[in-house]
Amino acid sequence: MSTEILMWAQVRDSSLLKNVAELAGEGKKLSQAVGGKLSAVLIGKNVAGMTKDLGDLGVQKVYLADDPALEHYSTESYCSVFTKVFEKCKPFAVIMGATFLGRDLSARFAGRIRGALVPDAIAWKFENGKIKPSRPMYAGKVIADISLPSDATPVVTLRVNVFPPAVKTSGASPEIEKIVAPNVKDSLRTVCTGIVKTAGALIDVTEADIVFSGGRGMAAEGNFKMMFDIAKSIGAAVGASRAAVDAGWIPHAHQVGQTGKTVTPTLYIACGISGSIQHLAGMSSSKIIVAVNKDPDANIFKVANYGIVGDLFQVLPVLGEEIRKLRAH
Ligand SMILES: Cc1cc2nc3c(=O)[nH]c(=O)nc-3n(C[C@H](O)[C@H](O)[C@H](O)COP(=O)(O)OP(=O)(O)OC[C@H]3O[C@@H](n4cnc5c(N)ncnc54)[C@H](O)[C@@H]3O)c2cc1C
Repeated sequence: MSTEILMWAQVRDSSLLKNVAELAGEGKKLSQAVGGKLSAVLIGKNVAGMTKDLGDLGVQKVYLADDPALEHYSTESYCSVFTKVFEKCKPFAVIMGATFLGRDLSARFAGRIRGALVPDAIAWKFENGKIKPSRPMYAGKVIADISLPSDATPVVTLRVNVFPPAVKTSGASPEIEKIVAPNVKDSLRTVCTGIVKTAGALIDVTEADIVFSGGRGMAAEGNFKMMFDIAKSIGAAVGASRAAVDAGWIPHAHQVGQTGKTVTPTLYIACGISGSIQHLAGMSSSKIIVAVNKDPDANIFKVANYGIVGDLFQVLPVLGEEIRKLRAH
């Protein structure tokens, strides 16, 4: 085992995902604790230009698999590339974002190398020469500190938007090692031939700069349509409390909180959300929080920068219109 830390520089729509900066920040700290270097695996088609961005984030070496056959993610082909890099450098630990694809790839890869998988870590320590990640378990009822065996490489996914991003500098260009992707084309069991996006699709709640979020106060599934319409018109995302998700008004992918997603947008607008501790766990690091609630004593007002006591069905359309006007300038 070397002292190298390996991270996945995940790409979507020809750019690095926001969480890559978070991985670089934590990867750097871990590599310093271990006394090694931080390397990234960059896979895709026409992705070589992103190596400079990785250097600016403090990545010292990039394993680059730039191949038209790798344009779209596939578990088998991306796992083969990762395994090839693993065989070359025998890293101390591998970190990925706990994104949908990060969860998929990490599980397959950890199985392939007989590594020690820790999904969805929200913190980690370095003790006695080993990484000790912490992760929520049992629907967030406990936070478990995980002790890992010495004879298996840790493969840890980090929850998105929990760790601070690496500060960008105009850093040195990273060393680049080109990786020829193993030819797994003929053995692929699933092939992605293209990605069809829903017209006017919203950005993921973890990536958005503005998030409108609705709770039980939204009262019905149909009322979320108004929120989606406003969000779409200004390029925002829609989040929800668990109460709204459990009621079946909106899919779980939108849930914010301890058992949902963690978000850190510039502006989070909570509508008809009381502010339970579990909801706050997922959004209290937002830069500006605006709460709309008809109960002046609602807990959400304790974390809000701006509070509007009123009926969300009257406030939300006006608020949406004002933001739309501001963004038009
Ligand atoms: C282990 C565990 C994990 C959990 N994980 C999560 C999680 O990830 N995310 C999460 O959100 N919750 C989570 N919960 C649930 C959490 O405890 C709360 O039950 C939930 O957040 C409440 O959602 P809410 O604020 O929408 O509903 P409520 O608490 O019922 O609040 C509704 C609010 O809407 C206001 N309101 C009603 N009508 C209007 C109106 N017309 N205009 C303005 N305001 C109005 C009310 O005054 C009230 O404050 C978890 C719970 C447990 C036990």
